[in-house]
Amino acid sequence: MGGEVTARLQAAAARAGRADRLPRLVAVSKTKPVEAVQEAYDAGHRAFGENYVQELVEKAPQLPADISWHFIGHLQSNKVKALLEAVPNLSLLETVDSEKLANKLDSTVAALGRPPLAVFVQVNTSGEESKYGVEPQDCVALARHIQQGCSNLRLAGLMTIGMPDYSSRPENFQCLSDCRKAVCEALGLAEADVELSMGMSGDFEQAVEMGSTNVRVGSTIFGAREYKK
Ligand SMILES: *Cc1c(COP(=O)(O)O)cnc(C)c1O
Repeated sequence: MGGEVTARLQAAAARAGRADRLPRLVAVSKTKPVEAVQEAYDAGHRAFGENYVQELVEKAPQLPADISWHFIGHLQSNKVKALLEAVPNLSLLETVDSEKLANKLDSTVAALGRPPLAVFVQVNTSGEESKYGVEPQDCVALARHIQQGCSNLRLAGLMTIGMPDYSSRPENFQCLSDCRKAVCEALGLAEADVELSMGMSGDFEQAVEMGSTNVRVGSTIFGAREYKK
């Protein structure tokens, strides 16, 4: 499971001259049963992504503690405590899109005595009306707030979905890369220390060729999702 995706990832990284530093493959398991996650785990996979707090809170305790969970859905401040309490092995929160959410995460991590939590800033790179993600021109301010005002968070990178319909265009990837450049210049960071989370089932190879360090692949690994009606 996922072996074919890994091979495609390796080939894309090689084309981009990055065969020595493979992007992380986050297997997106939303709507899939714990058995499917366990099967991928047994095959050696460790990084998994979930979108819904309720679903992750239910699944995580049933699965091995050394899984690295990535939260990749929209997160409301009033769900932060439930998420962090139930998932001690949450390794990356990819969707910080407001100072309010950053502050809530920061204070909750402190209150729970957790080690600093790695976060990505989510950017709306489509230029279209979208509920989630900061506008590109606002990413530096939010990144600065996290770095300088949230001592319990670690600014680890930037994330984008792409278009509102969950497809992506090369412009989306280029936009996120430009955002990273701006953040690094403003905050004095090295680009190698700031990740780019971009690329999904339909476009992860192109994303890797354009600099992605973290691809989020669901349906190509687990099969199409069936939503309960
Ligand atoms: C569902 C989802 C993915 C995975 O999508 P696929 O097209 O199934 O690979 C990646 N990122 C986010 C934010 C998602 O919600």
